[in-house]
Amino acid sequence: MSGSLTVIGLGPGDARWITPAASAALEAATDLVGYGPYLDRAPEREGQRKHASDNRVEVERARFALDLAAEGRRVAVVSGGDPGVFAMAAAVFEALDGGGPQWRDIAITVEPGITAMLAAASRIGAPLGGDFCALSLSDNLKPWDIIEKRLKAALSADFVIALYNPISKARPWQLGAALALAAEAHPPETPVIFARAVGRPGETVTVASVRDAATVAADMSTLVIIGASTTRLIPREGGAPYVYTPRFYGVRP
Ligand code: SAH
Repeated sequence: MSGSLTVIGLGPGDARWITPAASAALEAATDLVGYGPYLDRAPEREGQRKHASDNRVEVERARFALDLAAEGRRVAVVSGGDPGVFAMAAAVFEALDGGGPQWRDIAITVEPGITAMLAAASRIGAPLGGDFCALSLSDNLKPWDIIEKRLKAALSADFVIALYNPISKARPWQLGAALALAAEAHPPETPVIFARAVGRPGETVTVASVRDAATVAADMSTLVIIGASTTRLIPREGGAPYVYTPRFYGVRP
């Protein structure tokens, strides 16, 4: 008998950013599967089993979850932010696509969550108010050549660019390379936002100009937003500036 599998987005951190639908799906599950720190964010429920795993074994974790569902369990796979954005929902479908017929009857659903770029943008104003795109800077699963090509194309098309996975111990130089390309493509005062641990303890949001952006510290919990040439800064007395991108391009209508 086949059970079900729901991939659930827990949002960036603050429990108030979990949707009621995601909470209900968590509540209904017999088994929770995910990276340990995400599982810790789900409330304890009697009779529910938690299966914690390492962060770097997504497809294995997805196969494990599909096997549990194939046994008839109601499985919830938890993910930070939105599960469809550089996260577990794609890993589940990769496993399903490459797997045998035993998984094809499982009812798979995805519960969306607030992704990091939306949470980060909300903290500073409206930097994603014009056209934007999102890129993962991680070259674990795709070659750096492709990342560089996409970045150059997005910069030359003058999109606002949200960079996920900007840096890690194993990938120390990629963010610097990306910011150098941005500095070549954009006017020096173009704002770059570094939003760290949004919605979690220790949250920081820093704005730099693209000229100085390389001096700002970033880590695995940071989301970087590179402004377009139209992205603007509104200074405030005694407070952080607002950053926004107008909806119009060129001449104000
Ligand atoms: N599915 C997640 C993204 C996973 S990729 C989502 O939708 O948000 C992991 C990257 O997301 C991190 O390297 C960082 O760039 C970003 N990120 C996730 N949570 C964040 C948070 N609370 N604050 C800032 N960036 C975050």
